[in-house]
Amino acid sequence: MNTTLKEGKKLIEEILSGTDRIPQDVTLIIAPPFTHLCPAARLIGNRRNPALAAQNSANRESGAYTGEVSASMLASIPCSHVILGHSERREYYGETNEILLDKIRLALASRLRPIFCVGEVLAEREGSMHFQVVASQLREVLCQLGPEDFKKVIVAYEPVWAIGTGKTATAEQAQEMHAFIRAFLAGTFGDLAASTPILYGGSCKPSNAREIFSQPDVDGGLIGGASLKAEDFLAIAGSFA
Ligand code: PEP
Repeated sequence: MNTTLKEGKKLIEEILSGTDRIPQDVTLIIAPPFTHLCPAARLIGNRRNPALAAQNSANRESGAYTGEVSASMLASIPCSHVILGHSERREYYGETNEILLDKIRLALASRLRPIFCVGEVLAEREGSMHFQVVASQLREVLCQLGPEDFKKVIVAYEPVWAIGTGKTATAEQAQEMHAFIRAFLAGTFGDLAASTPILYGGSCKPSNAREIFSQPDVDGGLIGGASLKAEDFLAIAGSFA
C-alpha cells in the first residue's frame, strides 16, 4: 500500500525507461495496487516486458462482496498474474490455505498465473519447523491442483522474518528451501516441478541479489521495498546478467 497514483505512474515510467538495460530473457512483472493497474496497463501498452500482476484477488467469482476484486475483473484489464498468499494477507486478513486454494482456482479459471507465496515466521525457523510449515502450505494448496493448472503456477519463497526487515536469508538458506520446495512438488507433480519458477522474496537489494539469484534453484525474486526505487529495481533485475 505504497504510492499515490501520480507517484506510482512516475515510478512505472522510470522502470519502463530502463527496461532496455535488462537482459532479454529476464521476465519482469510489476504488481502495483489495484487503483494503479489500469493506468499501468496503458503505460505498458504492447511491450512484452513488464507483465502486470495484482497483489490479491477474491475467493468468490462475482456478486455482492463489497470491496472485493475478482480474478475475472483483473483478467479483463488485462492483467496476467496475481500474487496470492502473501504473508501480510495471511497475517492481517486471515487468509488460510483453504481460502487461498479457492483464490488460486478462480485465478486459473480466468487465465491468471498465480504467484503463490509460502514461508515461515521467525519462531518457526528458530524452532526448526520451517520445512514442515512450507510443506503444509504447498500440500494444502498447490498439491490440490491438477497438473495442467500446476504448470501455470509461480512459487515465491518469502521467509516472513526477512520481509521488510532488512534481514535477508543467506544464499545457502534460500537454496536449501528452494530445493526442498522443488523436491516436495516433484513428489506430486513429478518432472513438472523442474520447470516451476521459484522466486525468493525478503529484503532483496542490488547488493545481495546476484548472490541469491546465482543459486541453482532460485529462479528470480519477489521484490518489495527495493521496487519503490526504479534504479534499485532495475539493478536487481539486471543481476541476472
Ligand atoms: C514483500 O513485500 O513481499 C517483500 C519481499 O518485501 P521486501 O523486499 O521489502 O522485504
